[in-house]
Amino acid sequence: MSLFDKFHKLAEARSGLGQDGPAPIATPIERVDSATRGWIGGREVILAGTNNYLGLTFHPDVIAAGTRALTELGSGTTGSRMANGSYGAHQALEAELAAAFGWPSAIVFSTGYQANLGALSTLVGQGEYLLLDSDSHASIYDGARLSNAQTIRFRHNDPENLDRRLSRLGDDAGRALVVVEGLYSMLGDQPPLAEFVEVKNNHKAWLMVDEAHSFGVFGERGLGLAEQAGLLDQVDFIVGTFSKSLAGIGGFCVSPHTDLELLRLASRPYIFTASPSPTVIASTRKALELLVNGQELRLSLQRNINRLYEEVKAMGYELGSPDPGPVMAIILPDRATALAHWKGLLNAGIYANLMIPPATPAGLNLLRISLSAAHTDADIDQIVNALRKLRDGL
Ligand code: PMP
Repeated sequence: MSLFDKFHKLAEARSGLGQDGPAPIATPIERVDSATRGWIGGREVILAGTNNYLGLTFHPDVIAAGTRALTELGSGTTGSRMANGSYGAHQALEAELAAAFGWPSAIVFSTGYQANLGALSTLVGQGEYLLLDSDSHASIYDGARLSNAQTIRFRHNDPENLDRRLSRLGDDAGRALVVVEGLYSMLGDQPPLAEFVEVKNNHKAWLMVDEAHSFGVFGERGLGLAEQAGLLDQVDFIVGTFSKSLAGIGGFCVSPHTDLELLRLASRPYIFTASPSPTVIASTRKALELLVNGQELRLSLQRNINRLYEEVKAMGYELGSPDPGPVMAIILPDRATALAHWKGLLNAGIYANLMIPPATPAGLNLLRISLSAAHTDADIDQIVNALRKLRDGL
C-alpha cells in the first residue's frame, strides 16, 4: 500500500510512449532562439507547438520594457495584491485592459488558470449555478470545484442542449453563469456564440467567454471571438491569459459590470498568491499595445492559417475543426499513428504537440499544430511537405 499506487496507470501510459528520442509529452526544449526557432534533441526546429500566436516573445519593444522594469523595480513583488504586491504598473495594466474593451473594470491574476479559478469560484456560490461546456479547460472545471455552485455540463458547442438545461432551472436561471471558450485549444473549434447569446438572454442567465486562445487572434482589435462576432455588448465577463498572444504569464478578467471590483475582496486565488513580477507586467503592457494595434500581425497569422488549412485539407487528413484557426488538430486513428506523426515531424525539423487521452475530448489521438504570425512562408512549406510525406506513408 503506497500513496503513489494510484499514479501507476498514468505512469504506464506515459512509458508506453517509448524511450527513444525526445519525450513527446513535456518535451524538453533545450534552447529558444526566437518566437519560431528552438532546439530539441540537439537540433534546431521550427516551433509549431507553442501558443505564440502573434510571435511577440522576442519583440524588441516587449523585451526592452521587461528589462527596464527588472532594473528599475526589481525581480519580484514578494507579495500579493492585497498586501504589498500592488504596484502602479499592475493598476495601469488593469486600466489598459479595461480601456481596450471600453469597460469599467479589469482584474489581473497571476496566471490564466488562476483567472478562471479566481473569477468562477467567487462569482457563483451556494444556491447559484455554473453551466459549463463539456469540453471546458481544466481551469474552468477547477474553478467550478472551488465554488460552491451547482455545476451543470451541457453538450459541447450545443446551444439547444444549454437551452434545455437552463429551462429546467426556471427563474433560477437568473442566478446561473454560462461559460464558453472563444477557441477550444484541443480541436481548434469555435462556439456558435450568437446562438449561445440568444439562449442565455432568453433565460436571463449570465455569460462568460474564456478568450485564452482567441485573444489577439480574432476581431479588428484582437479582443477575441466576442469582438469578431459583434457581441461584446452581450457578454458579462471575459477572461484571458497573458501566456499566449501576450507572450508572458498571467491572466485577467474584464467586465462591463463595475461591481467586478468586488471580487478583489473575496477571491482567494486573487488574494492568497503573489502578484506577477514587474518584468511580466511591463512586457505584457507593451505586448497589449502591440496586440490592440496588431492588424498586420493578424493578417500574417491569417495568411499562414489559410495556407496550412487548404494544403492539409487537400491531403485528406481529418481535422478537428471546420473553422480555420491558429490551432490545427489533425485527428489520427490511434495513439501509435499519432506518435509516429509527432516523431516524423520532429525528424523533419518541426516541433508540434502530441495530444492523447485523458487530455483530449472523446478519447481522440491528435497531432496539434499551432501557428504564429512570425512563421514564414518557408516554415509553412516545410510543415506542409513533412505532413505530405507522412500522409503518403499511412
Ligand atoms: N483557459 C483556457 C481555455 C486555456 O486553454 C488555458 C491554458 N491553456 C488557460 C485558461 C490557462 O492559462 P494559463 O496557461 O495562462 O494559466
